[in-house]
Amino acid sequence: MREKELRQHAVCSLCEQPIGRAGVPMFWVVKIERHGLKVDVLMRQQGLAMQLGGNGFLAQVMGPDEEMTTPIGEASTLTVCLTCATDRALPVSAMEGVVQDEDYAERVPR
Ligand SMILES: [Zn+2]
Repeated sequence: MREKELRQHAVCSLCEQPIGRAGVPMFWVVKIERHGLKVDVLMRQQGLAMQLGGNGFLAQVMGPDEEMTTPIGEASTLTVCLTCATDRALPVSAMEGVVQDEDYAERVPR
């Protein structure tokens, strides 16, 4: 990561404090993507595997290799400081909302 990109990650997305505030020179970049499963594709692939004697690996090679998920919404990229990475218990779905909700960090207990 070069300087320009590092500057974009200088502040923690969760606590809005500088990433180095814990005194340890490291941080996390967390990419969150939500996917929906395509149940019809999964069932079709499972059916093929059953026709091939239950061999999922063979079905993977013989099958159409379709997309089995649909991305839901835009991916979120969060910068997380050491303190937030180790001391917070926060559901991924709540972290996903941090990017859209700028006041979220203030309301979440630490
Ligand atoms: Zn933080």
